[in-house]
Amino acid sequence: VQAALRGRRWQYEIRDRLVEQTFARAALQQADRRKDEFLATLSHELRNGLAPLVYNVAIGNRSLDNTPLLQELFARTGRQVHHLVRLVDDLLDVARISTGKIELSLERLNVLDIVNLALDACRAEVQRKRHRFVIVEECGTDLVVRGDRVRLTQVLSNLLSNAAKYMDAGGTITVRVAHDAGQAVVEVSDTGVGIPRESLHKVFDLFSQVRNQQAYSQGGLGIGLSLVKQLVEMQGGSVSAASDGPGRGSTFAVRLPVVEAAEPAAAAPVADG
Ligand code: ADP
Repeated sequence: VQAALRGRRWQYEIRDRLVEQTFARAALQQADRRKDEFLATLSHELRNGLAPLVYNVAIGNRSLDNTPLLQELFARTGRQVHHLVRLVDDLLDVARISTGKIELSLERLNVLDIVNLALDACRAEVQRKRHRFVIVEECGTDLVVRGDRVRLTQVLSNLLSNAAKYMDAGGTITVRVAHDAGQAVVEVSDTGVGIPRESLHKVFDLFSQVRNQQAYSQGGLGIGLSLVKQLVEMQGGSVSAASDGPGRGSTFAVRLPVVEAAEPAAAAPVADG
């Protein structure tokens, strides 16, 4: 009888624990949903608030009677506003992804075209720090992948912009484009501050920043690489990070399935700038 009672008590305990766990999970899910809603509302409000600033800076920049001092002021303000817009846009994207509201428009894309679009987006940043930029094309063919033009450009420009950011002036950014086992590989390497081995695995986590790199981060939030990973994975690809350690540069690689690899129409382009 005692054994039967013990067995029954044990069953009740298990049932109570399961009920507790279910409630705790539901509470966590609700908190998570509210966090997503809060993030979405906050980033929308911030983005709306920034719109007049973007407009005013653009008008101010174009004003003919600007003195050199005013021009310098507008240029600096413009850079800060641009930085804030990018930060808030990244926040908006994080909110869109977590609420399943991001839509991709998939099409056939030439990988080198996307590399060049991304470089255009970061050119000012790369030039301001007098970095050298090199494209190494190792695939020997035109690589075509299926992806979203805007989002893939965003992915690569994010990596390029990080390379430019986490490097003292006058560094080198190398983009290697290769074809490996049915995948297009785009590697963005820099000669910058590098990443300690123990931090490599978490650089793609949301809000993750490597310690002792604050001097380079210029107020980032640790969102960009998390977005890069999610956007690439949504397009059937993968990302990875490598570094030989502090002071020895970093390499970020994006891999996407190739849908077509044709002989190139012209000689391999090499950009330097
Ligand atoms: P943010 O740059 O805004 O901090 P990211 O998500 O883009 O956020 O990057 C996360 C962290 O990874 C950065 O804070 C930085 O510590 C590290 N990191 C990213 N790119 C590089 C790079 N090219 N070289 C060295 N560290 C990097």
